[in-house]
Amino acid sequence: MHLGNVEFFVVSDGAALSDGGGMYGLVPRVLWEKVTPPDELNRVPTHLNCLLIKSAGKIILVDTGLGDKLDARGEANFGRTGGSKLLDELARAGVAPCEVDIVINTHLHLDHCGGNTRRENGTIVATFPRAEYWIQRLEWADAAFPNERTRGTYLPENFAPLGEQARLIDGDTRVTNEVRCLITRGHTRAHQSVLIESDGKQALFLGDIAGRAVFLERLAWIPAYDVEPLETLETKRRLREWAIAENILLIFQHEFLLTMGYMRRAGEKWWVEKVE
Ligand SMILES: [Zn+2]
Repeated sequence: MHLGNVEFFVVSDGAALSDGGGMYGLVPRVLWEKVTPPDELNRVPTHLNCLLIKSAGKIILVDTGLGDKLDARGEANFGRTGGSKLLDELARAGVAPCEVDIVINTHLHLDHCGGNTRRENGTIVATFPRAEYWIQRLEWADAAFPNERTRGTYLPENFAPLGEQARLIDGDTRVTNEVRCLITRGHTRAHQSVLIESDGKQALFLGDIAGRAVFLERLAWIPAYDVEPLETLETKRRLREWAIAENILLIFQHEFLLTMGYMRRAGEKWWVEKVE
């Protein structure tokens, strides 16, 4: 797809299955199962979308999915069949790992940064050997010093081996003239979304502040994974008003039927209109 002078591709690390209770938090199943029918283990389909951006001569990858370091049991826990697809999808877009200049992690949960690193001869190395990895400093701190509730998703193997390739950033940060990281607090304290701006048009890769369209349509629908749910609520309130006011193309990371769309509103009803 093109947005002004920027070329971007939604690339997937595969399709997984997430526990419906984790995904929909306080929302009763009788409500969410109408939106996303679960399987017999109460799991809902969850895509692992990442975003490849070509801007100002730079090749930028936003998030890296689950990656390929999981063992068979780990893959089964995520309900992913067929393993990691990210590198194949990048190849299809004409990009080799050594060509990626910048990796941006929206946050360091394992389904967003698992592909940051890979195993090579028994050690863990950066998957993208030339890339700088742009990660919020506060997110890095939360990941490096997790608590009992967060440690299951903050796996050091996904970020600690980056060494000098990690570039810690503080708050909203410009990446190129056309790409910016914006703090969208709530899912984690320093969660960031990525905005593309070119030729008067804008697109926003939301990350986990709203991994599915329904999370923007219904503000109270917030995953149980969010560490600051009331911050998520207020961040989403601002985001959806901004998205309407400026007609921003929204890109959803975990959505399986609706990857991109525009926010629409009629009175108190809000919805995302799908873009093919
Ligand atoms: Zn997350």
